[in-house]
Amino acid sequence: MSPTPSSPAPLLYRHRHLLGIEGLTRPEIGSLLDLSESYIEPIRSKTKSALLVGRTVINLFFENSTRTRTSFELAAKRLGADVINMQVQASSIKKGETLLDTAMTLNAMHPDVLVVRHPDSGAVNLLSQKVDGAVINAGDGSHEHPTQALLDAVTIRRRRGRLEGQLVAICGDVLHSRVARSNIHLLTTMGARVRVIAPPTLLPAAIERLGVEAFTDMRKGLKDCDIVMMLRLQSERMHGSHVPSTREYFHFFGLDYGKLDAAKPDALIMHPGPMNRGVEIDSEVADDIDRSAIREQVEMGVAVRMACLDVLTRPLRSNAEA
Ligand code: ASP
Repeated sequence: MSPTPSSPAPLLYRHRHLLGIEGLTRPEIGSLLDLSESYIEPIRSKTKSALLVGRTVINLFFENSTRTRTSFELAAKRLGADVINMQVQASSIKKGETLLDTAMTLNAMHPDVLVVRHPDSGAVNLLSQKVDGAVINAGDGSHEHPTQALLDAVTIRRRRGRLEGQLVAICGDVLHSRVARSNIHLLTTMGARVRVIAPPTLLPAAIERLGVEAFTDMRKGLKDCDIVMMLRLQSERMHGSHVPSTREYFHFFGLDYGKLDAAKPDALIMHPGPMNRGVEIDSEVADDIDRSAIREQVEMGVAVRMACLDVLTRPLRSNAEA
């Protein structure tokens, strides 16, 4: 093991938890992005650090996840932490235990960081008020998914050099998407221009109040965009039918080369995954190695999660050293 290179940039993030992007300042976000970038090289060279040796990270997932849970696990292990994964199906919730009972039980085991995903908006915030360790929101209902927005921002910054001035289209099921909400907060705070494009049934009321422009037509909304971010239809969060059929949805809102023509010729294609090919995105477009940044997003996810674990455990580590 080699010691972790500490971040060259001054760290401006001063919160105990990471519950959302809303309310974070531009310098706070900027310093998280800088720190995340400093972890890319150690990931690529498979350097393991001893930064979190003796620390415990619990991944508490009340909802399915592939990318997010795996990348938090890998990030924690790369930093030397002990990691415990708790899956919803196996948890006591099935036996009627409440979220807070589960939190208190886990708290008694003194985890340093709890990474929590929950289907209810606000549940992770509630839990953070009851536990002693730091809490990272790994997605709460349709509210926020802060590490996804951070990894998207690192990806855009690396490809385009900056976030400021980029014209970003977020397309699809904006209504139910925590990815859209976190990205809107992050991108507008960092000076990007954001458009959302969705059928009227999947556009939140008064979304313009968040500082975005809303469109219900893909070609109009995509016109001259630098970045095209696609979203999955969140059927698990839909009550009733929001789209007539997935076939019709693809026809009007699925990203194919025809619609992509309206964006800038070098527009970058992004998707948080999991993708539904042929529903919100055409397979060929998703796999276009010149245009798609989808795999890079996954790689940046590990770097961002290492940075978040590093940042939130700094107060503990400095107490231990004192
Ligand atoms: N993985 C992302 C999330 O957890 C996006 C999605 O599920 O569509 O919100």
